Amino acid sequence: MDKDYYELVLNTFIEYYDTPHLEFIRNNIFILKELSAVLYEEISDIDLKDEEYTEYYSFYDSTSLARDFIGYINPKYLESYDKFIVNGTFDIISEPESIEEEGYVDSEILDDGQIRNSIRIPLKHNLDDVYTIVHEFFHTTNIESFDTFDRDLLTESVSIFYEFILHDYLSDKNVNHIDNNNSINFRLNQILDDCYCVNYELDYIYDVFNDIDLNYGEKSQDEMDEYFEELFSDVKYFVSSLIAIVKYYEYKNGYINIGQIERFNESLKYSDNLNSLEFIFNRNISEEDIKASCDYIKQVLSKEFGMKK
Ligand SMILES: [Zn+2]
Repeated sequence: MDKDYYELVLNTFIEYYDTPHLEFIRNNIFILKELSAVLYEEISDIDLKDEEYTEYYSFYDSTSLARDFIGYINPKYLESYDKFIVNGTFDIISEPESIEEEGYVDSEILDDGQIRNSIRIPLKHNLDDVYTIVHEFFHTTNIESFDTFDRDLLTESVSIFYEFILHDYLSDKNVNHIDNNNSINFRLNQILDDCYCVNYELDYIYDVFNDIDLNYGEKSQDEMDEYFEELFSDVKYFVSSLIAIVKYYEYKNGYINIGQIERFNESLKYSDNLNSLEFIFNRNISEEDIKASCDYIKQVLSKEFGMKK
């Protein structure tokens, strides 16, 4: 084991031991390791094509299409969506410096307790912009006056779930299938990376704690903070993606409805101890669930390519 890295892992674990974030990782290390390996294998099995986008999307094209979709999910969202467009909450970057730039939401709490969001959207001028707008918009639907642990861990699941639903919505509207599948392929590729990172990290952590050496050196707070942030981010994306994939499958098969997803989304604002999970999880996610869900996504993606001929 690399001594430096070993010391970083050990020090960080001691430093963060009492946080709910680390408690979640500690309590679930085996299941996270197991499920990330299964999800990795299942997604690797999908033929993730990497094609050029075929159609140009202006800012207007993307925001209108995103608006149609968001209104279709629930018209109650349109009031804030429209406000975001006119009051500059959507910070649209028309010519980002790099194509790699990603969207994100920046939030601050004002003196009166209200939240002010800034939603950064670097445009790629293709259909993916619609996915980015929808993804980032849904992050704003579960922010309340402070960030709860539930939201920290699970907000991505709502945004990613709606990306899958958006895929089907756009496919029904006959938008270009190559472009539409590109965006989902991109997401699945990211999930693959997250699974890999989580699995690798947790294996390493497990080894460190199995072979603990009390003569370890110290690490700076900055190093520990950075490592912990990355570790939790990988875990959060993995857990959220897993939930999104399985819930998408369950939704498409009629086992759950959008109302349940909405209630789950709502609960993220207030719950700080993963009570939110009880809304939609009456059982744990098993290996079979992951396989069935990924098989379903495989079918969805191959169907689109089939139709284009
Ligand atoms: Zn996100």
